[in-house]
Amino acid sequence: MTSPKSETHVAVLGGGILGVSTAVHLLRSGASVVLVTESDLASGATGRSLSWLNSAGKRSDPYHQLRMAGIDRYRTLFAEDPTREWLQFGGGLYWAPAGEAAKAEARHEYEQSHGYDSILLKPGQISALTSGIDETAVSDVAVFNPGEGWVSLPHLVEYLMAEFAALGGTLITDAGKSRVLAKDGKARGVATQNGSVYAADRVVVACGAATPSVLEEHGAYIADGSPVSALVITEPADHRLKAVLNTPRVAARPNPGGTLALDHSWYEDQIVESDDGSFTIPEDAVKELTEEASRLLGGSRQLTPASWKVGRKPIPGDGEPVFGELEKLPGCFVAFSHSGATVGLVAGELLSFEILTKQKHPMLATFRPERFSRS
Ligand SMILES: Cc1cc2nc3c(=O)[nH]c(=O)nc-3n(C[C@H](O)[C@H](O)[C@H](O)COP(=O)(O)OP(=O)(O)OC[C@H]3O[C@@H](n4cnc5c(N)ncnc54)[C@H](O)[C@@H]3O)c2cc1C
Repeated sequence: MTSPKSETHVAVLGGGILGVSTAVHLLRSGASVVLVTESDLASGATGRSLSWLNSAGKRSDPYHQLRMAGIDRYRTLFAEDPTREWLQFGGGLYWAPAGEAAKAEARHEYEQSHGYDSILLKPGQISALTSGIDETAVSDVAVFNPGEGWVSLPHLVEYLMAEFAALGGTLITDAGKSRVLAKDGKARGVATQNGSVYAADRVVVACGAATPSVLEEHGAYIADGSPVSALVITEPADHRLKAVLNTPRVAARPNPGGTLALDHSWYEDQIVESDDGSFTIPEDAVKELTEEASRLLGGSRQLTPASWKVGRKPIPGDGEPVFGELEKLPGCFVAFSHSGATVGLVAGELLSFEILTKQKHPMLATFRPERFSRS
């Protein structure tokens, strides 16, 4: 006997990984879903993310647990087909600036203390565990985390959207800056910039860095700490890098097609915002970032930047994710997170559970939107 399908109609606002993942999980559970997004899918942070899958370093226990569950869902996806070029588990390698070995040692000790797989390495020990790195670039010690990986989010979105289409989801792109509609104090659907209306029983706001401003209209306050950021993709390079590197001047990971994805934070204050809301980064900063990465790979490899994208990186004001239904506007659910790559699959799953069962999932208990208005 099959169980009756839910009749719940859900409108999801935002076509990044959090919106797409939530939409697909809702469809899997039998909801009808319309996904409405401003321009193209993955046009926000999802299209320009380093997307290192990790829970390295220090954070709250609930956030650590959510990230570990996030990695677990990627492991399942990886096990289904380990040959996918866009999802790989080659570990992560971190090192601190020269003379700050204590920082790497403290990170390793903390990680070990709560069972996060973490190995402290001297430069000469690196090549035995992971390939493609010039060990002379590492001054003191490095921390290797074998359980980490990376995903190319645009590929993941494409993969999930094939299932979205097969399950009968409706996709509306180029909707412009859309709004949540409310009636009698409850969320009732979304309206696009040109006035099209999609009625729904529940609404999900997953608008990345724009999430706080979209919710403001309904009196909900969510602190926003989203900085500007940039991601550089190189031309295909003859490299053997498998791990995600987090180093003092560049973070780097393999990317499909033999390219590399690079980012860091040191150039953020050089990024300029124009009146139309677009951002530009000086080409010198892109060049310097690429040269830093070339140095890490060693040999005569000179990486060349092929493209770069600049924009806001969604980060809630206190750094912790925001998930769940708004008390101020019942029926309206929020998905706003830093590390949306790592938690993308599991967050969509848990949020969809809350939307369709009306139960609160314990793993989301500390991430409620109201913490900002109550503090
Ligand atoms: C440079 C960089 C590096 C990162 N590195 C990592 C990492 O190593 N590990 C990790 O886990 N995470 C990382 N992240 C974070 C991760 O990529 C993001 O958390 C995630 O992609 C956010 O997805 P999202 O769906 O919340 O938002 P977005 O991808 O920004 O999508 C939101 C969508 O909503 C649309 N939208 C906005 N407003 C409206 C509106 N009013 N109406 C309709 N549509 C609207 C936008 O156009 C956009 O398409 C990084 C991000 C960046 C930018």
